[in-house]
Amino acid sequence: MNDPRPLALVTGASRGIGAAVARALAPTHDLLLGGRDAAALEKLAAELPGSRPWAVELTDPEATAAAVQGIDRLDVLVHSAGVGMLGTIAETPPETWRRQFDVNVVAVAELTRLLLPALRATGGDVVLVNSGSGLAARAGWGSYAASKFALRAFGDALRAEEPALRVISVHPGRVDTDMQRGVVAHEGGEYDGARFLRPESVAAAVLAGVTASPDAHLTEIVVRPRADLRG
Ligand code: NAP
Repeated sequence: MNDPRPLALVTGASRGIGAAVARALAPTHDLLLGGRDAAALEKLAAELPGSRPWAVELTDPEATAAAVQGIDRLDVLVHSAGVGMLGTIAETPPETWRRQFDVNVVAVAELTRLLLPALRATGGDVVLVNSGSGLAARAGWGSYAASKFALRAFGDALRAEEPALRVISVHPGRVDTDMQRGVVAHEGGEYDGARFLRPESVAAAVLAGVTASPDAHLTEIVVRPRADLRG
């Protein structure tokens, strides 16, 4: 009998970057498709053989703990679920800080913690979809950037503590997704998705990290839109 294919869990797979990562991994991996939109996950699962929906609200620790039951071996964990809530420090209330950190940091830490035994069992890969905002903070992006700086610190600590795992932080610039539509609406400009990275281009960077030869560890991957796309 053939060995089973490696298993990947991709959060945020219902749309955007996570959906593109799921499509990129599907030819080689069985997949658990994370998100909350059950209909979108069912639709993607029908398209990708070897995949199934894994619907959970990741800020609910009990629901997350229940959802990981039975995952004893995991080869790849991609954290793409996230929120991007913008505003200056002057206009950002505590509930925005808390929500942004809850989704972008605490939920990532808890899901990783729960899955560590399964990841250790394979010597697996943890991919953190971070952001350019995890490398430099700009005016109007304070709480989002702070959450992504925290996510980078989480990744650095995890890499140091779990040498058998590979921990890959991917830092994309602006990507053509629903989140970016919200950003542009906030900024008050016209949306032109062609000026941004395609989700598939970020997925290709994730794939590069996961398929790197076993002796190689791509710890940080920075992906910017080409300058001549910016107009
Ligand atoms: P998106 O299109 O808005 O999709 C967000 C995904 O996260 C959806 O699948 C959503 O599930 C899931 N999600 C959000 N909150 C969740 C929660 N509490 N529990 C479970 N799932 C949750 O976003 P995206 O643009 O693909 O962004 C993906 C990641 O890339 C984020 O971490 C973001 O910070 C990062 N990033 C994005 C850009 C960009 O320009 N778009 C640039 C750099 C980095 P539902 O469909 O169920 O809501």
